[in-house]
Amino acid sequence: MRASRGDKHISGSERLLDVQEMEDAVSQLLRRALDHPRGRAGHISITVQPVPIAQIRNCSLLPLMTHQVKNCQQGLDRARELLIQAGLKAEIVEQSMALLAAGPSPQGGVMRGAMLIDPASGARLEPDQGSGVRVSRMDLSPESRRPVAQFLSSCGLNNQRVIEAWILASKVALYPQIVAELCWSDDPDYVTGYVASSEGGYQRITHLKEAGSDIGGRIFFVKPATEVLTLINYLRHEPVLFRLPVNVEG
Ligand code: AMP
Repeated sequence: MRASRGDKHISGSERLLDVQEMEDAVSQLLRRALDHPRGRAGHISITVQPVPIAQIRNCSLLPLMTHQVKNCQQGLDRARELLIQAGLKAEIVEQSMALLAAGPSPQGGVMRGAMLIDPASGARLEPDQGSGVRVSRMDLSPESRRPVAQFLSSCGLNNQRVIEAWILASKVALYPQIVAELCWSDDPDYVTGYVASSEGGYQRITHLKEAGSDIGGRIFFVKPATEVLTLINYLRHEPVLFRLPVNVEG
């Protein structure tokens, strides 16, 4: 689902579902597009495409961890540390965070997809810097929905936002050429963000921007010499269903 008003991105969501689950999912997506804190959508599009079951990979979600921080400054410091631990240079981290905070689209607004950044040069690699790259075709496997909800409830985190971000971060981190991801939401009511990587897991940080700001986005840091179009094809088209990681299975 994509919702927008004029040039402004309002909201988007991706699901990978059995046919019989579609009707409920579509009405939930419609509700989300109509009631979003970024404003009422003027244009909503819901696209449904068939995915052959034989193409679907089944993989584990990244390990989840939450860093409680007192304010945005502490949160940004923590994100910097985690990105540097993932192997990025401090100056590229600084430059990328400033870009995300300023609004990365050419008009200084929010993109509906992610930026791709080469951590050696800081260059942006996504072909369309107005819309970025949207990751799609990922979800929980049907049998994992209940255990994931139970696990998240036990951490006080059982909401759609956490589930969707965890799934997205896990799909992105599966690609061997991804070094790390940085995200904070464009929803003015939601200040939690995360750093994710295959080594470090999905590391939520409770405060990464000031409340009331509707600027957010995602950066995928991509190893130098990555074949960008192959990466984009993976992010957009390769279907993956996720289950809980082994260490949190009940
Ligand atoms: P959200 O976490 O939904 O508040 O989204 C925050 C930002 O992440 C959005 O403004 C987009 O720039 C980006 N984003 C959201 N969903 C996706 C996606 N499926 N693929 C790539 N980027 C996304």
